[in-house]
Amino acid sequence: MSLLEVTGLRAGYGGRDVLHGLDMQVDAGQVVVVLGANGAGKTTTMRALAGLISHRGDVTIDGAPLGRRPDEIVRQGVSLVPQGRGTLDISVLDNLRVGAAVRKDSVDEDIERWITTFPALGRRANQRAGTLSGGEQQMLAVARALMSRPRLLLCDEPSLGLAPIVVQELFATLADINRTDGTALLIVEQNAELAMDIADTVYLLEVGTIAAEGPVERFREDDTVRGAYLGY
Ligand code: ATP
Repeated sequence: MSLLEVTGLRAGYGGRDVLHGLDMQVDAGQVVVVLGANGAGKTTTMRALAGLISHRGDVTIDGAPLGRRPDEIVRQGVSLVPQGRGTLDISVLDNLRVGAAVRKDSVDEDIERWITTFPALGRRANQRAGTLSGGEQQMLAVARALMSRPRLLLCDEPSLGLAPIVVQELFATLADINRTDGTALLIVEQNAELAMDIADTVYLLEVGTIAAEGPVERFREDDTVRGAYLGY
């Protein structure tokens, strides 16, 4: 059984479906990237899986039905790094504490860990999130999502609006967290090249359905994928 099993996922806005029956799986510890053109439904998929919009179809985490409310889903071990970061304009430390709101145990160790992993956050621990650079805010969004100790981290376009060097660092850190903790990653990304460097499996999303899926090696050699997503 996979960690995340999605069968016939439908979701949309105002009674109109954007996702028309998606099937996908993420195994424990796996890195999966979802590629797709603008408007294909990548963000909608992430929002449905995080409980921010309602869905139809079967979605299970370790065999149990996905909760309906975002906090239930976080308790099941699924945490979202939303597109556009979504950090709150409170201090860096308070953002991290918000990320751990579902936990009852002490979170000091985790705070220590993430401000060591992302030293810029440590230097700005008491600053408001709004005063951070875009890259620092993205680090904070990732660290905040990790504070709940997820088994599956959903990352919606983590590279958006960031300088190439910052994006490289961020992906290296995500790969490291996956290796060290075995946290599975489901990443939606326009920067296909970079995402494929750390991914095991690729799904291609086209207008609300999965057009293709397979191991990352196969997609690198596929001319259609190269033309459409890798630009060579
Ligand atoms: P992008 O890379 O541009 O973010 P995407 O693949 O993430 O694209 P979605 O944001 O999931 O695509 O959007 C899929 C479709 O749903 C689009 O046609 C979009 O216009 C529509 N849509 C997205 N958000 C809303 C909303 N809040 N209300 C109504 N329609 C929406």
